[in-house]
Amino acid sequence: MRYSGLRLLREGLTGNRGWTRAWRDPAPKADYDVVIIGGGGHGLSTAYYLAKNHGITNVAVLEKGHLGGGSIGRNTTIVRANYFLPGNSEFYSHSLKLWEGLEGELNYNVMHSQRGHMILFHSDGQRDAMARRGNAMLAQGDDAVLMSREEVRAMLPYLDYEQARFPIFGGLFHPRGGTARHDAVAWGYARGADRRGVDLIQNCEVTGIDIEGGVVRGVQTTRGAIRARKVAMIVAGRSSQVAAMAGMRLPIESHILQAFVTEGLKPVIDHVVSFGMGHFYISQSDKGGLVFGGDLDFHASYAARGNLPMMEHVMEAGMTLMPMIGRARVLRAWGGVMDMSPDGSPIIDRTHVDGLYLNCGWNYGGFKAVPASGFALAHLMATGQPHETAAGFRLDRFRTGRGLMDEEGTGAQHSLH
Ligand SMILES: Cc1cc2nc3c(=O)[nH]c(=O)nc-3n(C[C@H](O)[C@H](O)[C@H](O)COP(=O)(O)OP(=O)(O)OC[C@H]3O[C@@H](n4cnc5c(N)ncnc54)[C@H](O)[C@@H]3O)c2cc1C
Repeated sequence: MRYSGLRLLREGLTGNRGWTRAWRDPAPKADYDVVIIGGGGHGLSTAYYLAKNHGITNVAVLEKGHLGGGSIGRNTTIVRANYFLPGNSEFYSHSLKLWEGLEGELNYNVMHSQRGHMILFHSDGQRDAMARRGNAMLAQGDDAVLMSREEVRAMLPYLDYEQARFPIFGGLFHPRGGTARHDAVAWGYARGADRRGVDLIQNCEVTGIDIEGGVVRGVQTTRGAIRARKVAMIVAGRSSQVAAMAGMRLPIESHILQAFVTEGLKPVIDHVVSFGMGHFYISQSDKGGLVFGGDLDFHASYAARGNLPMMEHVMEAGMTLMPMIGRARVLRAWGGVMDMSPDGSPIIDRTHVDGLYLNCGWNYGGFKAVPASGFALAHLMATGQPHETAAGFRLDRFRTGRGLMDEEGTGAQHSLH
């Protein structure tokens, strides 16, 4: 079924009885060309681009819970391309370009809103760093505007400019940055992959990976054994557990990151705003809730829930930057499991097992990466060559020390602050 305004009108007037299922619910087959472990954003986009770009449709996505139940449906939805280092810069630039055509391509409203993303700076040193980053963004072909304190004040009048503990010196504005609706992205890719013949199999946990003579043969699941010529592990916060099934020990730590949403308010925050002196960022959802988050809980865990000390820390950072936020009531908070890599950059690579691939290490930033990540891994799996935008995301950089991409030191052991 094609979605359109006309269809919406017709269904609205006829009791909404004509909608069909967004995707099938097939039983797993015994054999596939490709099995993808993990039905998060990256697993679904990989399946979609395998089918769309490479015509590989005998594919199953195996998800232990429901599609969109992992971090893809738990993040704070920021989409941006303001990375500094070569390797990251072109990858996220590519991702943003894919985002910009995504709704039309998927025929799905992912509510991509390019409302602009502002990173504040609070010292001369930070201004220099932001100027360099802005230049790198412009050199990459993206957009960046270095703003003075007065220009920021005109745009974000609700920040504290008078008595702030960390005075605002200015900001780096990225007009094409913004937000999208997180679970709609999973659903859009799921529907697109399903329409091209991919089997999306929910409630199907992978419990083992079959390897013979160094070659992957398939997987063991809670719904039986499934043979496959190629298998991709795309399980974000569970990467270490799943890779251990193939005898691998990954340089990944799983940490908790929390998100917070207030009661619905009239429009007050028109952009995405990041504090430069603490880990705090905020936007306002279309329903009016202020959506914000901060730092990791800083203990490794697989529990998708957070703790009070970090909640207090994030609220303090918010109050420091915009005291008016103290009037809003927080209605909801949740945690998600993050796959933190040592240099804060991801891994899209083959493994030592023939036919077995790995996609992980997305740290805080894997939502914005969903389109380019699936695009790049599908390219690697189909052609045997890394895609030019993701060639640096090699697993062996953590063993050899060559090609580390320490963007902000935002791996498991931060050096940002
Ligand atoms: C609070 C929070 C805020 C964030 N904010 C942002 C942001 O603003 N911008 C941004 O770019 N990124 C953000 N992120 C990061 C982003 O959400 C993640 O990096 C990204 O979603 C991870 O990739 P994924 O979508 O594939 O993961 P997931 O959705 O977690 O997908 C992995 C899937 O694998 C499944 N799985 C695990 N083990 C197995 C198994 N054995 N068998 C079968 N299936 C299995 C899981 O059930 C899960 O559904 C945030 C994350 C959190 C938690």
